[in-house]
Amino acid sequence: MPLERTLSIIKPDATKRNITGKINAKLEEAGLRIVAQKRIRMTKAQAEGFYAVHEARPFFNDLCNAMSSAPVVVQVLESENAIAKNREIMGSTNPATADAGTIRKEFGVNIQDNSVHGSDSLENAKIEIAYFFRPEEIVG
Ligand code: ADP
Ligand code: MG
Repeated sequence: MPLERTLSIIKPDATKRNITGKINAKLEEAGLRIVAQKRIRMTKAQAEGFYAVHEARPFFNDLCNAMSSAPVVVQVLESENAIAKNREIMGSTNPATADAGTIRKEFGVNIQDNSVHGSDSLENAKIEIAYFFRPEEIVG
């Protein structure tokens, strides 16, 4: 099976609580390899561009404010089936209903501040990786 890449973001609620290492440990234990990583502070406009598909949703403005409220860690994760594997270890969107052992269950605060983002398809992974990384920044 070929290697796949996905975009992950450790969100502001997690960087504020200084748990980026704990989240990276969960990703690595799940078999995902961090092949690119940087800590950035997103502007509101950058967050709006990233979440453009959710533009019409009632939570869009609050979400973009939250994502630009403090640093995030953007990362490229690589493995076989990386997209599905990451979604599995992340857990469902709402930490309250996420499976035991998932990142969102263990660390998420609420449905908005749910600690991590992960791409949901191969097509979106490519777009999202290119949103933050130049090819030479990714070292597999
Ligand atoms: P996921 O991150 O699990 O792929 P979505 O793509 O549906 O979930 O939503 C993107 C992000 O928007 C979520 O991770 C969460 O931060 C926020 N969000 C989603 N639904 C809600 C909601 N009902 N209320 C507040 N924020 C939400
Ligand atoms: Mg999503």
